Amino acid sequence: MSNFIDKARITVRSGAGGGGAVSFHRAKYVAAGGPDGGDGGRGGDIIVVVDEHMSTLMDFRYKRKYVANDGVSGSGKRCTGRDGESLVIKVPRGTVIRDTETNEIIRDMADDTPFVLARGGNGGWGNKHFATPTRQVPMFAKAGLPGKTRDVTLELKLLADVGLVGFPNVGKSSLLSVATKARPKIANYHFTTLFPNLGVVYVDEGVSFVMADIPGIIEGAAEGAGLGHDFLRHIDRCRLLIHMVDISGSEGRDPIEDFETINAELKEYNPDLASRRMLVVANKIDILEDSEQLERFRQHVEAKGYDFFELSTATQQGVRDLMKRAAEELSKLPPPIVFEANYVERPPEIDTQAPLSIEHVDDVWIIDGPWLQKIMANVNFSDFESRNWFDRMLRDSGLFDRLEEMGIQDGELVSLYNLEFEYWR
Ligand code: GDP
Ligand code: MG
Repeated sequence: MSNFIDKARITVRSGAGGGGAVSFHRAKYVAAGGPDGGDGGRGGDIIVVVDEHMSTLMDFRYKRKYVANDGVSGSGKRCTGRDGESLVIKVPRGTVIRDTETNEIIRDMADDTPFVLARGGNGGWGNKHFATPTRQVPMFAKAGLPGKTRDVTLELKLLADVGLVGFPNVGKSSLLSVATKARPKIANYHFTTLFPNLGVVYVDEGVSFVMADIPGIIEGAAEGAGLGHDFLRHIDRCRLLIHMVDISGSEGRDPIEDFETINAELKEYNPDLASRRMLVVANKIDILEDSEQLERFRQHVEAKGYDFFELSTATQQGVRDLMKRAAEELSKLPPPIVFEANYVERPPEIDTQAPLSIEHVDDVWIIDGPWLQKIMANVNFSDFESRNWFDRMLRDSGLFDRLEEMGIQDGELVSLYNLEFEYWR
């Protein structure tokens, strides 16, 4: 029905690091060539950025998988492999990234800072790193670390200062079009607006705000009837609501009833919205048939403590006053809500009982295996917690016991991908 998409589930994968090379320098006049195997390149990151020109998540409907390039393996002559190219995903401002499984918020793309959603794996070291006085011919290099896969849900919660709410056909899109440069579709039938439109209102030098025309909210929207429900999330963050009714009676509607219906909808969707600052606007006064109707509505609204405005988007009567007033209100209100991340990174579930390959080359013990690789890709060595977790995983796996059984000596090197340490009992 609608081609406006404001929720999408995607999978991203950062690139794996390239492997290090095993290679030896061979030059005519060099008696014994030294190791010159270069490092593998880093895998590409998955980076999310805000694109000002986007207003829907439509692009994500058919493309659900996003993969960054792997790093290239190193080669001889100390050549480092090329880094994998990062993949940049563009989203509209206000896109909230959640972990699909837990629904926790990973990041609210509210500002212009690019966000690294998945870091590429580090490249493996080439054998040039492993030459020591006692080990001049290192016959080994390290594999690159794998990339990271994440399953995330994108949800667009527009960042507009002012949200226009009201029944279909009351003139919301018309107001947006006369007050801003936005050109929403305007027509005399319901649900013209199938996706939110944003426009910037310039009130004065240096005074402007973003106004959004939210698709028609209708009765039952909060229970999921019609279009409304999906779109209510876009007013979550509006600091000020402008609630419009059609006062002309041209559609035979009762403005008081409509006003209350919409308010009930808002409240049901999110109780916070009921207390959000709101200006109430009676539109289409240019074709007002019953001035008593206008008076009754005004009294009803003012008795409830709302500020009331008469408007005609057709003749533009009252538009400027309303916009000035909106700007004034906004200057007194707190900045737009930005959602705090509450995602907790959990260590991946890893079966450390699966066997590892252990090779003893010179005085180095080279450990290899799929689960170890996975752990290495997940540990952040600059973080204490993370290092502890890593240490525990290794101990629990029985790796050190096995090394002892195989005869490891104090001071010998243990080599785990991009980590090498001396073993001391
Ligand atoms: P929305 O559904 O709330 O976005 O309403 P629209 O802006 O699409 O307007 C619905 C219809 O009302 C259109 O035919 C508009 O031309 C008409 N309309 C909007 N504002 C006014 C107004 O102030 N006066 C008159 N006479 N018609 C208006
Ligand atoms: Mg409209």
